[in-house]
Amino acid sequence: MHVCPECENPLTFAEDEVDEGEIVLCEECGVQYEVVNTDPIELSKVEESGYDESAIAFTDEEEE
Ligand SMILES: [Zn+2]
Repeated sequence: MHVCPECENPLTFAEDEVDEGEIVLCEECGVQYEVVNTDPIELSKVEESGYDESAIAFTDEEEE
């Protein structure tokens, strides 16, 4: 059983049915984790805002 590193809520996904690259969602705090390894299970937090922030800053400079 894996728990969410953010809120320590048990993550309810089938550990033997997930593949690398799949996204699991913590239903308690809404954080998404990407499965980066399946044996053993390793999860990497998906940062939703980090990617967009740099893209927006670059776009603003181009437009002005
Ligand atoms: Zn959580």
